[in-house]
Amino acid sequence: MQNKDKEIRDVIILGSGPAGLTAAIYTARANLEPLVIHGAQPGGQLTTTTLVENYPGFAEGIDGPVLMEEMEKQARRFGALFLAGEVTQVKLQKAPFEIYTGDDIYRCRALIIATGASPRLLGLPNEKELYGKGVSVCATCDGFFYRDKEVAVVGGGDTAMEEATFLTRFAKKVHVIHRRDALRASPALQERALANPKIALHWDTVVSAIRGDKQHGLTGVRLKNVANGKEEELPCDGLFVAIGHLPNTTLFTGQVEMEERGYLLTGHGTETNIRGVFAAGDVQDPHFRQAITAAASGCMAAIQTERFLEENQ
Ligand code: NAP
Repeated sequence: MQNKDKEIRDVIILGSGPAGLTAAIYTARANLEPLVIHGAQPGGQLTTTTLVENYPGFAEGIDGPVLMEEMEKQARRFGALFLAGEVTQVKLQKAPFEIYTGDDIYRCRALIIATGASPRLLGLPNEKELYGKGVSVCATCDGFFYRDKEVAVVGGGDTAMEEATFLTRFAKKVHVIHRRDALRASPALQERALANPKIALHWDTVVSAIRGDKQHGLTGVRLKNVANGKEEELPCDGLFVAIGHLPNTTLFTGQVEMEERGYLLTGHGTETNIRGVFAAGDVQDPHFRQAITAAASGCMAAIQTERFLEENQ
C-alpha cells in the first residue's frame, strides 16, 4: 500500500457527474483544492445523452458531453484536481477518511460522495452475454450501429421515450415494450414518441426471453402480453434496456446508511450518518434525478463541507 498523498486533503469528491463537478467548482473556489476521483465514465450519465434541453441557461439546449466538459473546465480553472481510478475500498469509521484506489490510499477530512447511479438490467438469461452484441443501455452510444435495422426499447419512462425517439434517426422500426397500459414518461416526451410513425408501442408487454448467442449476436426477443398471457417472437437486431437505475453504493455498505434500494440516506441537506461525509446527486436521490437537481445538491454538499471544515479545524 502506498500513501499517495503525504498530506491529508481537506476534501475528496467521488464522482464527476453534475453533482461531483458542481461540488468541485464550489470547493475549489473556496480554496479547498478538492481532489475529484472518477471511474470509468468521467462526466457520468450525461455523457451518454444527446441534447439536454432543460438545463437552465442554454436556450437552444446543450449536448450532455459538452455540458460536462464545460463543468470540468470550470472546476479545473479554480484548482480542482482530477484522478482517474477505480475506488476499491473506503474506510469511513474515523477521520481522516481513507480512500483506496487499488494499492494507493488517499486521506481526507471531508468526503463528498457523488457516485451516481447505473442503468438497471432485466435480469434475463443471455442479457449480459449479449451486452454489446445487440443488448445496450445507451442509444446515444450504440444507435449508430442500427441503421435500417429493427430495434426494441424496454421501459415506459423518460429515458425509454428519449432513446426510442433518438433511435428512429437510424432504425427503420423501433418497438417500445412497456409492462403497463400507461407511460410514466413526461407528457412532452410521450407525445413526441407516440407521434413518431417509426415507433410501435407494445402495451402490457414484457420481454420474457432474449434470443441469440455470442456468435450471431441478438436475433430477437420473446414478448409476453401480461394482460392476456399471449406470447410472440419479435425478431430484432437491437434491444435497448431503459428501465431505470440503481445507485452506485456497494462501496459504502455497512458504513453509510442507505435505504432498501441502496440510495444513501441524507438528513439535513446532504449530510449522511457520518459527520464529514456528504452525499450529492443521484446516489441519494431516487425521486428527481435531473442534471440540475444533482448539480444543486453538489453545491449544497460543497457549502456544508466548507462549514464542516471551518468548525472542525
Ligand atoms: P423511470 O422513470 O424509473 O422509468 C423506468 C421505466 O421502466 C418505467 O416505465 C417502469 O415501468 C419500467 N420498468 C422498471 N423495471 C422494469 C422491469 N423489470 N421490466 C420492465 N419494465 C420495467 O426511469 P428513467 O426513464 O430512466 O428516468 C429516470 C429519471 O430521469 C426520471 O426522473 C426522469 O424524469 C429523468 N429523466 C429525464 C429526462 C428528461 O427530462 N429529458 C430524460 C431521461 C430521464 P412502470 O412505469 O410500470 O414503473
